[in-house]
Amino acid sequence: MPLFASRLAAVVVASLCAAQGPVFEPESLIPGTSMHRCGTPTHFGTFNPADAPDCSLNNTNPAPWAPVSVLRIPVVVHVISNTGGTGNLSDTLVQSQITVLNEDFRAIAATPGAGGFDTKVEFFLATTDPLGNPTNGIRRYTNTTWFNDSGSYWTSIAWDTARYLNIYTNSAGGGGTLGYVPDLPQGGAVLNTTADRVVILYSAFGRPALGGAPYNQGRTCTHEVGHFLGLFHTFQGGCGTASCYTTGDRVCDTPPEQTQRFGCPVGAVSCSTPDPIRNYMDYTDDTCMTNFTAEQAARIRCTLANYRPNLGVPGGPIAAATVRNGAGNYNIYTSPPPVLGTTIQSQANVTGLTYTLASVYWYLSPATTPFPPYTVLVDLNSTLVYQSPFVAPFFGILMLWSTSIPNDPFLAGLTVSTQAVLINGSGFGLTNAVDMTLGN
Ligand SMILES: [Zn+2]
Repeated sequence: MPLFASRLAAVVVASLCAAQGPVFEPESLIPGTSMHRCGTPTHFGTFNPADAPDCSLNNTNPAPWAPVSVLRIPVVVHVISNTGGTGNLSDTLVQSQITVLNEDFRAIAATPGAGGFDTKVEFFLATTDPLGNPTNGIRRYTNTTWFNDSGSYWTSIAWDTARYLNIYTNSAGGGGTLGYVPDLPQGGAVLNTTADRVVILYSAFGRPALGGAPYNQGRTCTHEVGHFLGLFHTFQGGCGTASCYTTGDRVCDTPPEQTQRFGCPVGAVSCSTPDPIRNYMDYTDDTCMTNFTAEQAARIRCTLANYRPNLGVPGGPIAAATVRNGAGNYNIYTSPPPVLGTTIQSQANVTGLTYTLASVYWYLSPATTPFPPYTVLVDLNSTLVYQSPFVAPFFGILMLWSTSIPNDPFLAGLTVSTQAVLINGSGFGLTNAVDMTLGN
């Protein structure tokens, strides 16, 4: 792939708008306000297939989506407040934004992002800084100039932008926009410089964001990270004039859209098909947005491979646990999602029951072989992975189990089911089951 040639071409295009801060385009104004939904610059490239990679400014040539490994992107959030304390977001709020990103980019079931396509891209607050020191991935600064999004503050505080997603929270263009990236990576204006970043208005960051509805569910950051990973607005280029891979937003499974949509205009049509108002790359309200598409996911992965090859690190899926009730079983057993390398504690509530002894079985789902009491083999190579401890006689309300989850990346994604067996002198009872995916 002629990567360098394509970057040269992209630089020429980008130099026309050489943006370092937000670009306020009139059509991005939120109706009835002086605020812009997004300050990311618009590109109007010229199709040039000879020197374009598969996800350039000019076109997308997506390979059919195939299951790919999960990539995890380390994030550093630079929380900038003014000397009056405005903008000093809590660690909890910062973490909530990471949670929203994962829900949306992984389309996690039973979350607001469940309706989308799983891009297999995850985000985590960095645990190691560029010098190799432990960190919680959150940096704090009190600087009113920086809070006003003035000055090139990133030059002194950015972490290696090739290896970290740098997110800044401040007034995002002096309060003029909810968020922006200075350029798409394909534009070349900021790629591999300290200016390569995502900037989010502090009051639209996290869930629930301080600014209140309709932009308080963390979707501004989902949208801007979409740009950061190479996506156009769904209304880029309007209805398009030729192939949907070379005009419009350069992907075909987002219906063409004449112009941006605000609010949540269900049923809106502008290019003979329903507008993609649910897409994260439109301008609709946070609660209206529900998805990336398969081709957007392919463009994201193509962008990571071609423009940000050192950003994502391999990783497993997010740990998950789902309670499953069977007829006649007691709904009293719970267990947190099993995170690799940690110890989790499960519990059975025996209030009002006569059972006092219990054990937990972990087994491949569906179970394929019987297993001896108190010990379950789930490893595909028949290596002992989990030994659920036998619980000694216990007469309290809760029975507790601690289980160590090996930090073995080859276990990531393994789905198991667990179920507790309660015992007394005359018999036994089964609890509900909990289905688990081992992950990060
Ligand atoms: Zn945008």
